[in-house]
Amino acid sequence: MAESAAEKPKPDLSQNKANVMLRKAAEGKYAIPGVCVVSLSRPSPGSNRTAYHRSPNAAAPTKHPLSSLNTPPPKIPSSSPPSPTTPHPSPPQLTNQPQYNLEGILATVRAATAKSSPAMILLFPWAQTYSSTLLAQAAATAARAAPVPITLHLDHAQSAAAVRTAAASGFYDSIMVDMSHYDRDENLARTRELVQFCHERGIVCEAEPGRIMGGEDGVADTVDLQAVMTSAEEARAFVDTGIDWLAPAFGNVHGSYGKRGIRLEFERLEEVREAVGGEVRLVLHGTDGFDRGVYERCVRGGISKVNINGVLNRRYLEVQREGWRGVSETMEEGTRVMQVAVEECMDMLGSTGKA
Ligand SMILES: [Zn+2]
Repeated sequence: MAESAAEKPKPDLSQNKANVMLRKAAEGKYAIPGVCVVSLSRPSPGSNRTAYHRSPNAAAPTKHPLSSLNTPPPKIPSSSPPSPTTPHPSPPQLTNQPQYNLEGILATVRAATAKSSPAMILLFPWAQTYSSTLLAQAAATAARAAPVPITLHLDHAQSAAAVRTAAASGFYDSIMVDMSHYDRDENLARTRELVQFCHERGIVCEAEPGRIMGGEDGVADTVDLQAVMTSAEEARAFVDTGIDWLAPAFGNVHGSYGKRGIRLEFERLEEVREAVGGEVRLVLHGTDGFDRGVYERCVRGGISKVNINGVLNRRYLEVQREGWRGVSETMEEGTRVMQVAVEECMDMLGSTGKA
């Protein structure tokens, strides 16, 4: 399989807008904020507890980790209007679930414009299953019309169909091919095939050898932290699939860091960087609660794109819980507070003024 990939030269994607952005960031020692703006707005019971990294001998999961995306959302009770004793219903299930859509796109573009920063808009595959190409069109239009460099990225595309649909749509600059729910060999083989499909359409690809935990959009848990950390050898194997950006696991986790706190293994990051050389850009997932010091250390370690999600989500949730506003007023205030959150990240990542 390695031979067949070697025979087919990788298309020149050096002028891809997202690639250009990340190359400049790597050279300038800052990172691009990848802002998750469209995600699930509901809990997906059970799905985020699925064991994620199966051993090669393990039985296939009976259910795809994101299969709940294809089922209709549960009805949120609407029969309990606000009363003096219950100021407003705040469904407990909404804790930590992203609650934003178009507002996140606007917040990102406005923050990037105000800070003169490059930025990346991240959609989850849910955007496709929910709205077909509508949200992607809106995001791509906003990105292309912005006075600063902004690109559109599909995050955690976990099925071939999601990758192919997005790649064929013409709206995305980059796609994360996430086959990490398959065992290693199948993961590599599928990644290689889908990367080629994307490259032929001028789209750059990101991949993640191992994922840890997951509160993010129903992405499943992994149990053993050490077992899924990225090794230099594994990083190399992924680079050989033809990917352009690698998301290493070096202690970063999706969702909340919980009691264990943020413990990153920068030596491991350095080993990965040495193993992949300058061939790919390193990107970071799982940044909830990171402060300026942690971000700066990651950027020094070679990270050039950082996904942010919870930091926006929480602010919008606060707005939604403050009380009854009209829908449009909630959206406006949510957009405003998310813009502030994105601007703060731009300052911490050093992308401010780099447009
Ligand atoms: Zn992620």
